[in-house]
Amino acid sequence: MKQIWKEMYEAARAVQHDREISERISAGCVAAAVESTSGNIFVGVCVDTSCSLGICAERNAIFHMITCGEYEIRRVLAVMPDGKTGAPCGACRELMAQMAPGRYQDIEIMLDYDAGKSVTLGEITAEWWL
Ligand SMILES: [Zn+2]
Repeated sequence: MKQIWKEMYEAARAVQHDREISERISAGCVAAAVESTSGNIFVGVCVDTSCSLGICAERNAIFHMITCGEYEIRRVLAVMPDGKTGAPCGACRELMAQMAPGRYQDIEIMLDYDAGKSVTLGEITAEWWL
């Protein structure tokens, strides 16, 4: 497995912890790391609310990247509450596709960190409407 995946996993784990924001909002049980094409790593955590105002860790990490002035994603890794990695949901895939029309297929996704198994976004998001 490439060293960058290890760095991303550690970066995500470093911010992953459950926190209660209010009686209606919790955050941090899922954490994500995104590597930009310049090689920087940006992290984000999920924010869960009572009525769909929250956000996935992946999109939060992507928005963190955008906030810091970068727009091109190379890799994405999300750590679930059990410490295993998982694929991004449809909304996160849609954001990545819209950020990189014609190129999103090449974004690498860590599916199974323990097994070192990654795929491209194009492999898990075939026949996208864009
Ligand atoms: Zn998502």
